[in-house]
Amino acid sequence: MSNWINLDYNATTPLAPEALEIMLPYFTELSINPSSQGKIASQINADIENARSQLAKLVGVNSDTLTFMSGATEANLTAILSHAYFLKPTTKKPVLVSPIEHSSIINNLILHKQAFEYLTVDNQGVVDLIDLRQKLETGEYAYLNLMLANNETGVIQPIDSINSLLNEFNLPWHCDVSQAAGKITLNLPHFTSIVSASISAHKFHGPKGIGALYIKAGCEFKPLIYGGGQESDRRSGTQNVPSIIGMGAAAKLANDYLDNHTQSVENLRNKFEQTLLEQVDNCQVISQQALRLPNTSYLIFDNCEGEGLKILLNHYKVHCATGSACLTGKQKASHVPLALGLSEFQAKSALRFSLSRYTTKQEVDQAIPLVVKAVKKFRSVQSQTPSVGPVTIYTNS
Ligand code: PMP
Repeated sequence: MSNWINLDYNATTPLAPEALEIMLPYFTELSINPSSQGKIASQINADIENARSQLAKLVGVNSDTLTFMSGATEANLTAILSHAYFLKPTTKKPVLVSPIEHSSIINNLILHKQAFEYLTVDNQGVVDLIDLRQKLETGEYAYLNLMLANNETGVIQPIDSINSLLNEFNLPWHCDVSQAAGKITLNLPHFTSIVSASISAHKFHGPKGIGALYIKAGCEFKPLIYGGGQESDRRSGTQNVPSIIGMGAAAKLANDYLDNHTQSVENLRNKFEQTLLEQVDNCQVISQQALRLPNTSYLIFDNCEGEGLKILLNHYKVHCATGSACLTGKQKASHVPLALGLSEFQAKSALRFSLSRYTTKQEVDQAIPLVVKAVKKFRSVQSQTPSVGPVTIYTNS
């Protein structure tokens, strides 16, 4: 993407060059099946375990609680089916789910005919703790399915308060931490109600197609895929060694970054957001009052249609998103802003800008005037267009 300003890093991040370099020999001279015998296979197994402990450090867990799999989508599905197997058969209680979950949670609950009910989030996208307490008091639920940080708004849930409530009512929690891992410091075992969590490497400059499922020590677990018994019988199939090694290396880099530079992405995001609020009339930040990931800015520019504005910004070589990349092709507003109480039109106006540790001050300085220019241009075209209602070019991505 030379000359492009990428501001869509919540969708995916480029592989860290250092991780790529470490991965390369595992495609060639170290391309040995870890389940085979001999000295090199033992070395590959040791390298896999090293990657597992690098990832474990990123989320604060013991490495034997992590199972590598193809990504957070598979980890979410595996957790859903495992919990359904152990937590629901006798009680048939529904799953308590947030209405802002990623489609890999909601669609899999629907597809696998899991009864579920939504909890309430407020207009910032934060779980309503009073509603949660009331629901827990009914004793009607099997477990909670709630992400830690939202991919669209960047909102981070009040993990301490939720954990205390769940412990009070003894309800387990599956937590999708894909967007949080690598962006904020995590210590999952500290939150004792979290029994499982999903992680994705390509959200923190690791390779795509690799992730992991955390299962709390001592919790029952039913694999999704059976076969040769790899990953300690928890996920069969020959391990994707280069990607596992790359995920470990990327986790180590992300950890080093979190230890040393946590402020820099947030400073750039704040500068981007504040300058646009000053320079563009009728612009608002979604979930501005909530605790958010340091890299995410979800904006509404009144009288602009998000998809059209995104295309115009693409023309200026700025890459951003109208919502979850996983909603690509869907001709409707994202369920996330709708759950916050925004109208269908406002929800379709929202544009997400997400930075990474690779984002430079120069890129942000270049992007700001281009966004200002695009909004002005879009609004002037809108005002000259005969009133046919908002322009709608629904090709969500
Ligand atoms: N959960 C969340 C919150 C995500 O943002 C994503 C990726 N968009 C996923 C799950 C799916 O991750 P993967 O691409 O690794 O399957």
